[in-house]
Amino acid sequence: MNLYIDGEWISSTRSAPVINPATEEVVGQVPLATIDDLDRAVAAAVRGGRVWRDTPIADRTRILLTAAGLLASRADRVARVMTTEQGKPLAEARGEVLRVAGALRWDAEDARRAYGRIIPSAGDTVLSVRQEPIGPVAAFTPWNFPAGSPMRKMAGALAAGCSIVIKASEETPGTAVEIVRCFAEAGLPAGALNLVFGDPAEVSAHLIAKPEIRLVAFTGSIPVGKLLAAQAGAAMKPSLMELGGHAPVIVCADADPVQAARRSVAAKFANAGQVCTSPSRFLVHESLHDAFVAAFLAETAKIVVGNGLDDGVTMGPLANARRLKAMEELVADAVSRGAVVRAGGERLDRPGFFFAPAVLTGVPAGARVMVEEPFGPIAPIVSFAELGDALETANSLPYGLAAYGFTRSARTAEKLIGGFEAGILSINHCGGSVHEAPSGGVKSSGYGREGGPEGLEAYLVTKRVSHLLVD
Ligand code: NAD
Repeated sequence: MNLYIDGEWISSTRSAPVINPATEEVVGQVPLATIDDLDRAVAAAVRGGRVWRDTPIADRTRILLTAAGLLASRADRVARVMTTEQGKPLAEARGEVLRVAGALRWDAEDARRAYGRIIPSAGDTVLSVRQEPIGPVAAFTPWNFPAGSPMRKMAGALAAGCSIVIKASEETPGTAVEIVRCFAEAGLPAGALNLVFGDPAEVSAHLIAKPEIRLVAFTGSIPVGKLLAAQAGAAMKPSLMELGGHAPVIVCADADPVQAARRSVAAKFANAGQVCTSPSRFLVHESLHDAFVAAFLAETAKIVVGNGLDDGVTMGPLANARRLKAMEELVADAVSRGAVVRAGGERLDRPGFFFAPAVLTGVPAGARVMVEEPFGPIAPIVSFAELGDALETANSLPYGLAAYGFTRSARTAEKLIGGFEAGILSINHCGGSVHEAPSGGVKSSGYGREGGPEGLEAYLVTKRVSHLLVD
């Protein structure tokens, strides 16, 4: 594995091991960039960015669509790399690769519609508004969606005509490398896309401070997001922050508890719960509580935990030892406060970071799992009597990413839609992200949107041009 700088794959003198979370074996070495490497990447992004923005839009689109096609054609191979480094079942990994190829296609096509406008004006003045690429982007992405997160940044930046230096996760580097290969083979000019790995704090502090970098894009935890946003602010740079969440699910008195439980379980334990939009606090009307819990337990019992490369496995290990420890601590804390473990909740006795999907009931409001993003396979279920109280609980945390509601009443659904403080809402199902619509948070979950026409906005700047015609 190498760094990709200025159109070349570069080796590094420093490296770190990459661990397979299903076996705890070392499966590779990730190269770590030096400060010199980073400076070369930024210089390349400046040069490559000029070439890329001056490339006719039809050629840019063709190159990006070619890269998307290459990636889709390699979905099986890339999925194996992803599962080996991150742990999710192969089918989930393959689905992610195909989805991101689709996201790249969508952004590539949408960039053709980055229209400006001509404004009627007096006499000999032509007044117009143009959309231009903001310039070189520095992006930082995590390990939970090794294809999804880097591609959102690469697709947005490149489609808008920007160059990018991206630091993908050191824990799941292989997928990012495979994606970059597709862009390189598709004919992307040297320097337009640069991939580095390294010490996260060192790389981000160095890149964000470089005057050539014009936008900071980050997906990850709220504390790190606040740190990077502050660094960007100190350098007067805009930032795009896709941060964590603690998504409430409100199951109203008129909902179908079995259907709500089935759909919740599928979403809750996807990617072993390591998803920023994962449903993570279940607030169920007291009249449905027992039926919902019974259906939830029955559905959870069908989950097959194991090595994501094996047939029939529906939930892989946690991605790293930190998440395993965090799950053990959250369950122990809830139990010490009186919660009841109805299923799972323990590390599996085998190598790998495996954790049995946990279902907890009777969880007190102050338990850590009710207030801290669990980012793992724990489902705390509590009951409520009044919808207004449930909404108040849902909105009581600083998070505001996703929220879910189940009801048969259009009136109640409207109450939920208007009442939830969240950037992404699903009613009567747990919808995933789609290319055509924006994703992003409110409150501490961040700002800016990825996907949909809004997805390109962060990567474009608006220029007002007043042109007085002279002979
Ligand atoms: P973490 O906060 O240490 O790291 C989160 C991500 O940010 C990692 O990819 C890490 O390499 C990176 N990072 C850390 N410090 C950085 C820095 N100074 N500059 C640039 N990047 C930096 O946490 P973790 O143990 O890897 O993950 C646990 C928490 O992270 C979870 O509880 C969850 O809240 C959050 N997380 C969120 C997302 C998301 O999609 N929003 C993804 C992964 C992790």
